[in-house]
Amino acid sequence: MKVTVVGSGDAFGTGGRSNTCFRVDSDGGTLLVDFGASALVSWNRLGMSTLDIGGIVISHLHGDHFAGLPFLLLESQFVSERRKPLVIAGPPGLHTRLEMACEVLFPGMTGNRWAFPWSVVEIDPGGKDRDIAGFSVRTIEVRHPSGAPATGIRVSDGKKLFAYSGDTSWTASLPAIAQDADLFMCECYGAAHPIPNHIDWPNLRANLSSLKAKRICVTHMGRSALDAIPEIKAAGLMVAEDGKVFDL
Ligand SMILES: [Zn+2]
Repeated sequence: MKVTVVGSGDAFGTGGRSNTCFRVDSDGGTLLVDFGASALVSWNRLGMSTLDIGGIVISHLHGDHFAGLPFLLLESQFVSERRKPLVIAGPPGLHTRLEMACEVLFPGMTGNRWAFPWSVVEIDPGGKDRDIAGFSVRTIEVRHPSGAPATGIRVSDGKKLFAYSGDTSWTASLPAIAQDADLFMCECYGAAHPIPNHIDWPNLRANLSSLKAKRICVTHMGRSALDAIPEIKAAGLMVAEDGKVFDL
């Protein structure tokens, strides 16, 4: 399994980083985790083709995690001329919110005659593993108000496991999300003072011993977290950067 960081930024592009997106490649195909508003820009900057994408799993319904989807759908229709199916999975409420986002950004878009079939799969957090584009996917609810359940995500290709916290304040769900992961990608928005609905570095550091993952990498960093990168690395964690690749 190979994980490419497409977007490692916060909602505001702090540090010039893209909104959240991770690309997971395996022998079975390519699955994306999140597709934030600016993810397609970063995707193109990295020289990748959207035709490679088999499916996408969305952690929660904030714009910096799912609002790139209308752009991706239109790019697939008119630029890359996709013909194969695309599956978009995420929390309950995804279908309605995605249609709303499409219509706000490009009125009439949902009435397109699509040249490729795309479908939305809403996953109940905490349920069974689901097969999404050839990967086994499990979502677990976390604490982050977004108008729908917010989730962490575990993605397995049967050999390796990639786990992602989503956005959340510290919750007892996080050790379960990270458990035995070959790579656990954990949000760490701040370092200077606690930020509602997010993890800050002192909070993460205090809870590190409960995260039983082989590697932990922080992402979704605001200014104070970016300033704390030397300290985060000194504690043995990795730090995500747009374009960084992990061979698991
Ligand atoms: Zn969020």
